[in-house]
Order: sequence, then C-alpha cells, then structure tokens
Amino acid sequence: MKNPLVEIDGDEMTRVLWSLIKEKLLLPFIELKTEYYDLGLMNRDATSDAVSAAAAQAILRHGVGVKCATITSNAARQKEYGLKQLYPSPNATIRAILDGTVFRKPIVVSNVKPSVSTWKAPIVIGRHAYGDVYRAAEMEIDGPGRVELVYTKKDGGERRILVADFDSPGIVQGMHNLDVSITSFARSCFIYALQEKLHLWFAAKDTISKTYDGRFKTIFGEVYKNEFSDKFAAAGISYFYTLIDDAVARVVKGEGGFLWACKNYDGDVMSDMVASAAGSLAMMTSVLVSPNGVYEYEAAHGTVQQHYYRWKNGEKTSTNPAALIFAWTGALAKRAELDGLAELAHFAQKLEKAVTGAIEAGLMTGDLAKIAEPAAVKTLDSQEFLDAVAERLILS
Ligand code: NAP
Ligand code: MG
Repeated sequence: MKNPLVEIDGDEMTRVLWSLIKEKLLLPFIELKTEYYDLGLMNRDATSDAVSAAAAQAILRHGVGVKCATITSNAARQKEYGLKQLYPSPNATIRAILDGTVFRKPIVVSNVKPSVSTWKAPIVIGRHAYGDVYRAAEMEIDGPGRVELVYTKKDGGERRILVADFDSPGIVQGMHNLDVSITSFARSCFIYALQEKLHLWFAAKDTISKTYDGRFKTIFGEVYKNEFSDKFAAAGISYFYTLIDDAVARVVKGEGGFLWACKNYDGDVMSDMVASAAGSLAMMTSVLVSPNGVYEYEAAHGTVQQHYYRWKNGEKTSTNPAALIFAWTGALAKRAELDGLAELAHFAQKLEKAVTGAIEAGLMTGDLAKIAEPAAVKTLDSQEFLDAVAERLILS
C-alpha cells in the first residue's frame, strides 16, 4: 500500500471478528497500512467521544475508511459499561461530518436464493439520510380549530397556508428538507451509479406532493442534466425517474441490477425489504459515499450482541464475518483505485471470491446454513469459516 486507509474499530462480536479477519486474511497477505481509531465504547467514553469526530476527520483527509460495527449507547449500555454519559451514534457523527449517502448492497452467492425469483443481480438501495418524517414536528389536535403553516421570513414578512380546519380531534405533522441536502444526496447517487456502472432509479410521489416531492424530482433532474448526463451516456447507463408505486411494481417484477435512490422513509422500509428478500442481514454491505468523493465501508449489521455474550462465556459462535470482510475488500479496492495499485485491487477481488467460493462450496456459518439450497456441506463456527476462506485465498 502507498497511502493508509482509516481503520475504525468497534464493539462486541464484530470487534472479535475484526481482529481475526486482520490476523487470518489480511496481515499474512498484504502490507496493511492503516491509521487506527478505536471507537469501542470504552474509548469513546474515555475521550468523551472526541475520537468519533477525529475518525471522521481522518476519513476526509485520507479519502477511504473501513468501520467495524459500534454500540449506540442507551440507558442499558450506560449501566453495562459504566459510561460517564450517553453519546450519539458514531454513524450519525461520521455522517454529519462527511455529509454522505449510505448505499446497501447484498453479497450474492448461488446457493442463497432471493425470495423474489426474477432477481438475477443485486438491487442497491441509496437512502437519503436527512429530514422528512425523521425530523418532523407533530401535534395532537384535541378539538375544533384551524391549523396553518406559517413561514416567518428572517428579513421580515410572512407566508401562511391552511393545513386544515378541524371540527373534531385529530393529528398534524410538519416536515421539511433542504435543497443542499437533496442536492448532495442526488450527487452521491449519480457518483455511486457511475462508479458501479449501474442504472439509477429515483422514485417519489410528485403527482400528489407536487411541491415537496416535486422538488426532489426537479433537483435530481437538474443535477443529472448539468453534471452527469454525458458521463452516464459514456458509461452506457441511464437515469430513470418514476412514481414510487410504479417503482415498487417494477422492482418486484424486474431482474435487479440497479441502484434505487430512495427518500428517507422509502429507504428505511425498502432496504429492509430488499435485505430480507435477498437472504440475510449478515450478507448486506454498506458504504457511505460523500458528495466530495470520500468513502467509508462497513457491514450493515450491528455488533451481534447476543453472540458476543455467548463468546464471552467461552462458547464458539457461528457469527458470519462475510459483510465485515467485504467492508475491508471495498476499502482496499477503493484505496487501490485511488493510488493506482493493481496488485492490491487484485487481492481484494481474490479475497471476495474466497468468501463467496467457500459459501458456494457448502462451507458456511449457521445463519446461511438455515437457508442454503442445496443444504450446507458443513456448518462452521466463525474461526473455522475464516480458516476455510484463508485456505482458498492461499490456493487462489
Ligand atoms: P445486530 O447486531 O445486527 O444483530 C441482530 C441479529 O441479527 C443477531 O442477533 C443475529 O441473529 C443476526 N445477525 C446480525 N449479524 C449477523 C452476523 N454477522 N452473523 C450471524 N447473525 C447475524 O443488531 P442488534 O443485536 O439489534 O444490535 C446490537 C448492537 O449493534 C446495538 O448496540 C446497536 O446499537 C448496534 N448497531 C450498530 C450498527 C453499526 O455500527 N452500523 C448497526 C446496527 C446496530 P441471531 O441472534 O438469530 O443469530
Ligand atoms: Mg428500518
């Protein structure tokens, strides 16, 4: 390696797997160069969470990061770890600094079939991570009265529109979004689609929500026309806008193999639908792409808490490390691309093939053994699976 990538360590079972992956699959094969940040909960507490922001700043500096899953602290975790205070989720901290969009893509193996029989290639979900119902103001209306939206301009003047005249109790909600956020979401989607050579779909409900969803549609259209239409044509990919209900019908009848850009709520719901229909949470990869071309790779799953407690009791666990390994290969391949390192790119490919090859040969962890067709040849614990992958890597 020429330049380091930012390595962000985490918690519980994924922290255990993290060091095993390095020991068995990376250090014996490459001269790994990383700038290490420990975002394990104890170190976040010791640094009053300064380490989370420092890690995000490091990704901005180096361009590429790889992150282990981390505990989002809550009252139970505060008690369990004796924390000084509660901290925001590291992912939220990092996303706020990198201003990115998260893309989720399943790892495809031939013996784990999607429940949608027409899907031949993975569907990638790009979810907008700001605003809408996640930052809404809501109110219960307890009796007759008028509800209005009022915009008080900073430099004087106001605009108001009627939401509803209530003659009985009900509810009301006010949502917002920002042009800058929608624009950077759109840009991240176009950049990702180009990089992965995927057609890009975007869907909203602009027939009903002419101003709100209409703005999303307009911004996507403008960013495409002004910055990406030539590049898309050269790459042989297309941008396609349709209504969300039409998109859903097409997704379920289609062959997959495209990027589906989703508004915040649609992405929340549809990424769970796509992940479950594609097989298993443990096979879902995730990458944060910032509009200024900085990348952070991780697994979509959490720290696998229950497995960790069993592991701490001395039990062997069959936790699937596939998505964590793919976080590493994604980051290494991106580093290779930025630094022009063909050998490193080749290694990342070989490691991915060693993982899918082992699973397709019937060697897998328990989560996949439950759903594989044909049935698993052998159900392995995490260590045995990593050893099986290492063996294939040596032979490849
Ligand atoms: P989780 O870690 O994703 O695990 C939920 C369940 O999914 C597990 O109990 C396990 O099911 C299955 N699973 C997930 N990953 C697996 C793997 N690699 N191999 C096998 N099975 C896997 O979610 P959680 O238990 O709700 O959350 C635990 C902690 O993770 C929380 O503190 C949360 O804050 C944190 N979290 C972090 C991130 C992140 O850093 N990006 C994301 C989500 C959650 P079985 O028990 O049935 O085997
Ligand atoms: Mg969800």
